Amino acid sequence: MNVDPAVQRKLLDLAAIDAEQARIVHRRNTLPEAQEIERLEAERQSRKDAAVAVEIVLDDLDRDIRKLEREVESVRNREDRDRKLLNGGTVTPKQMTELEHELQTLTRRQSILEDELLEVMELREASAADHDHAGSQLSKTEDELIDARRHHGDAVADLDTADKRCAADRAGLVGEFPADLLAVYERQRASRGAGAALLQARRCGACRMELDRNLIARFAASPAELVLRCEECGAILVRTKESGL
Ligand SMILES: [Zn+2]
Repeated sequence: MNVDPAVQRKLLDLAAIDAEQARIVHRRNTLPEAQEIERLEAERQSRKDAAVAVEIVLDDLDRDIRKLEREVESVRNREDRDRKLLNGGTVTPKQMTELEHELQTLTRRQSILEDELLEVMELREASAADHDHAGSQLSKTEDELIDARRHHGDAVADLDTADKRCAADRAGLVGEFPADLLAVYERQRASRGAGAALLQARRCGACRMELDRNLIARFAASPAELVLRCEECGAILVRTKESGL
């Protein structure tokens, strides 16, 4: 195939645009902003789990507190009843001794219950602080997630802009190539990634293979219009002053 060398050189511009578009695709698939969103979503889930776990502890402690308060209340009621009986003056000396004994037991019981209640309330206070902490950590992560989503949106918009620019540049360029040359280029690009490359310092710019002396001699003797292909990867090799021929 023979093509004007100036047109052949334009294949390098086309290859540069295609390489840029491939980089854009790769970047879109590996955006660190997307990984950050994934990381933060996992973090948010674990923070939610932590908050729920603390809520369960709080509920248990509240139930313990209510139970202890009911017990304290019932002990107090019994003490009141016993005191009223004692002060009523209608009990026998034997009943009086029994009531006094029971009152002593009730007082000890009440003191134990109140100590327990105090302990559980302290635990509740600590758990409430844990709950507040879990809540603020969760809302911090949610704020970070909002930021991360915005950064991701910005990054995607930048890629969209770059991609559109490439597409426009490409559309403006493809019309300059003869159809058969473009067809070879596109087939090569589809199979190996690079349709054309610069022959530079005796190497194929696509696969980096160094061309042997015989081939270099043959290329050097070829007319400038002849379209050359890399024997290794098949890329169209574009000759310039840098080619080392
Ligand atoms: Zn090659």
